[in-house]
Amino acid sequence: GERTLAMIKPDGIVGNHTHFIKTTILASSFTILQEITLQLDRHTAQGFYAEHSSRTFFPDLIDFITSAPVLIMVLDKVSAVSDWRALIGPTDASKAKLTHPHSIRAMCGVNVQRNCVHGSDSTKSAAREISFFFNHTDSG
Ligand code: ATP
Repeated sequence: GERTLAMIKPDGIVGNHTHFIKTTILASSFTILQEITLQLDRHTAQGFYAEHSSRTFFPDLIDFITSAPVLIMVLDKVSAVSDWRALIGPTDASKAKLTHPHSIRAMCGVNVQRNCVHGSDSTKSAAREISFFFNHTDSG
């Protein structure tokens, strides 16, 4: 299959959405290849979100993503990248509640920042993000 990086963000962890999200992942035929819970420090968060470093929301994003632990997973499935993006729904959870009410962000998120989960947006991003958090000495 294909691999993507999924992250349950601080609002998902603090809001006790972890069990629901993992159950949804497994019910959607993804395999969870690796997982780790981390408290991101600011340096790591800035590296992960480097592509957003010039955005006005960047300082708030770093404050938010370092505010509590995150759960990071490597998911495997045919078309994992697009399937996971479809399952999580639009970036803005407040809009997702109207347009994609069964998406994870609609059900667990609050707004454009507190949107509960992350998903790689391309296979290229997925490769970068997976190697950012995991080394793959055990993968084929
Ligand atoms: P992610 O990369 O987390 O899966 P995404 O690809 O849907 O989200 P991006 O545009 O890449 O969305 O934004 C990355 C993250 O930055 C968002 O998930 C959200 O937490 C935060 N963010 C994006 N836009 C805003 C905004 N206008 N105000 C506050 N935070 C934002």
